[in-house]
Amino acid sequence: MSTEAEERMAIRIDGREVAEQILANVASRVDSRRRRGLPPPHLAVVLVGHDQASETYVRGKRRDAERVGIASSDHRLPETATTAEVVELVARLNHDPEVSGVLVQQPLPLQVEVAAVVEAVDPAKDVDGFHPLNAGRLLLGQPGILPCTPAGILRMLDHYGVVLEGRRAVVLGRSNIVGKPTAVLLLRRHATVTVCHTRTRGLAEVCREAEILVAAAGRRHLVRPDWIRPGAAVIDVGVNRGPDGRLSGDVDPEAARVAGWLSPVPGGVGPVTRAMLMANTLQAEEERRP
Ligand code: NAP
Repeated sequence: MSTEAEERMAIRIDGREVAEQILANVASRVDSRRRRGLPPPHLAVVLVGHDQASETYVRGKRRDAERVGIASSDHRLPETATTAEVVELVARLNHDPEVSGVLVQQPLPLQVEVAAVVEAVDPAKDVDGFHPLNAGRLLLGQPGILPCTPAGILRMLDHYGVVLEGRRAVVLGRSNIVGKPTAVLLLRRHATVTVCHTRTRGLAEVCREAEILVAAAGRRHLVRPDWIRPGAAVIDVGVNRGPDGRLSGDVDPEAARVAGWLSPVPGGVGPVTRAMLMANTLQAEEERRP
């Protein structure tokens, strides 16, 4: 028999379950292309230097690709690489007919100009969805490649049947890769969206208005249970590593006592973001060779 306290807990938005569904769909589409005699999509990953976390992410991407029948290759440059060297490598991959998608793993060493590298990626192969052309298309509501984390957040909400149309949504964070594109996607789905940042006054009150709250500030447990509107759908994007190496999100887990839905960290947005990269790589290939 469940206790009263258990009955009040939020529904856990299981990112692994959502990711599995996305990956199964990608695998079956890749397989049907293979049966039509088409080559597998190919993800090329550029890695500059030896950032430990990046190495782990790249290994994960290789494993995901293998699982769904997508080919992948790593292209490494030393820590001392210049912007021109990275751009040149990207240009080579843009022109390689074998390559469907190009991803430049961030962070890049300080001497490398991130914007120049992002703009160097062919928008048709921009599986991160960071190129200004794809960002512009997103804003204008035109078809294009969507950034993985924001697109994944929408998939999570849809998977759990969270209604967006007409609802009050608050996005905590305004970065170009998470906050802004998530706000635009929610707006495209007819939510009424507020975007918060470090200069927002009365942050707790603004968050309390949210029927959908996306926390992407990168501050451990910034969002307290009393910031949550009862029954709200809360997506915790934050990934914060504590001194003990453990990961925690931007939302205090006690928020589960107030929210209607809550995505955990780890096991929430992370796996869905990874799965969306595979979906984007397949999309790029499908658009290139229908
Ligand atoms: P970011 O570029 O550092 O942006 C953080 C945003 O949050 C900024 O707009 C900042 O405001 C705002 N912010 C920070 N502290 C705040 C505070 N105390 N009050 C109000 N606003 C605050 O980070 P990001 O790249 O968007 O990533 C956000 C988090 O998501 C990070 O923890 C990152 O690791 C995680 N993430 C996870 C995934 C995944 O797949 N799971 C993917 C991407 C990112 P200002 O603009 O005013 O500075």
